[in-house]
Amino acid sequence: MTEKLIRGRLLSFRRAPQSLTDTESYSYESDGALLVADGKIAAAGDYATVKAKAADGVEEIDHRPYLILPGFIDTHMHFPQMQVIASYAANLLEWLNTYTFPEECRFVESEHAARIAAHFYDELLRHGTTTAAAYCSVHKSSADAYFAEALKRGMCMVGGKVMMDRNAPQGLLDTPEMGYDETRAVIADWHGKGRNHVAITPRFAITSTPGQMKAAQALAEEFPDLHIQTHLSENHEEIRYTCELYPEATDYTDIYARYGLLGKKTLLGHAIHLSDREADALSEAGSVAVHCPTSNLFLGSGLFPMKTLMRREKPVRVAVATDIGGGSSYSMLRTMDEAYKIQQLLGERLNPLESFYLMTRGNAEALSLVDQIGTLEPGTDADLVVLDAAPTPAMKLRMETIKTLPEELFLLQTMGDDRAVVETYVAGSAMKESI
Ligand SMILES: [Zn+2]
Repeated sequence: MTEKLIRGRLLSFRRAPQSLTDTESYSYESDGALLVADGKIAAAGDYATVKAKAADGVEEIDHRPYLILPGFIDTHMHFPQMQVIASYAANLLEWLNTYTFPEECRFVESEHAARIAAHFYDELLRHGTTTAAAYCSVHKSSADAYFAEALKRGMCMVGGKVMMDRNAPQGLLDTPEMGYDETRAVIADWHGKGRNHVAITPRFAITSTPGQMKAAQALAEEFPDLHIQTHLSENHEEIRYTCELYPEATDYTDIYARYGLLGKKTLLGHAIHLSDREADALSEAGSVAVHCPTSNLFLGSGLFPMKTLMRREKPVRVAVATDIGGGSSYSMLRTMDEAYKIQQLLGERLNPLESFYLMTRGNAEALSLVDQIGTLEPGTDADLVVLDAAPTPAMKLRMETIKTLPEELFLLQTMGDDRAVVETYVAGSAMKESI
């Protein structure tokens, strides 16, 4: 058994913080340590106690004075959009048609898909993200590249071959049968291999015919434990066009409900402009609305009413994500900075404890994977991020006046990026030096 002792300031959440003074919601050790054995956390707590549990001569890694948290989790990304990020467009549909769809056509080539997959995982790890849920392109070759690279790096990843059979260039279209067959093939090849999770991935209702939605429904019935990921109510023009395509549905959310696609493992990207009826439907289904703040601002899509959705009588489950490449940063820290600003514009407060909860345990709960990732609980996988709140001269100067943990977290969120990430561990292995 390979053991190592990782020392630093430990922070892990027990539940969602209710306020800045809700110290019961998290555990914090100012001189803490994790004992890692065979990729899992064997013990966590204060250094002296954990050290006493380790074998004599155990390898020790000292990260003091840095913070050690569970690795960040990103619940909505597009792996084939790395070379689309920072494309100048007026809105979602123009951005898709002008830049994104032509770029995704290139993923039919395995060599291109493999090259971009290597860069994709490098960027995740550079930014302290150890798990993500991502869309591949329509081509099985893109899913093969995505999952092969995750397996190589030992990462816990969710992903799926996109299903889309209309309203896109010919090179990006499958058919209901192809979408079904190839998703089944991706499941057979990759689901449960290493730490891979295959998701059923109809891109969104605009790019799937009713026939394809039925195929997605068949997959969801056949594989009820799989994640389902799609997009919902991102932009007003998109909503109008979607409802035209499905006139029998009450609203956009009802389209997915009619095809049995709303469940507890359903991740709905954006979900910005929901009616009360739609929010009730998501709440009752236990589906997750995934907030992508940098993307929503970049594409001018709207202000996600996160706090309103969370405190409804029928609350909606919420997660946070970058939405690369509609999003403008790979960093979950930058993402939460923009999430904070969106809530400010809505007259709401998002405190830094909540932000760090959302990036770790909150997103793990949203993915139904909290028994494996998102905390520093013994028995879970040792996916970690080590953070320095003073990596730049400006942050260092600001740190001089900071006295509390929430203040330090808020600085990290407001000014931090990949420079604040000292190290990223995947299943106990340090990954940053190799990228
Ligand atoms: Zn998206």
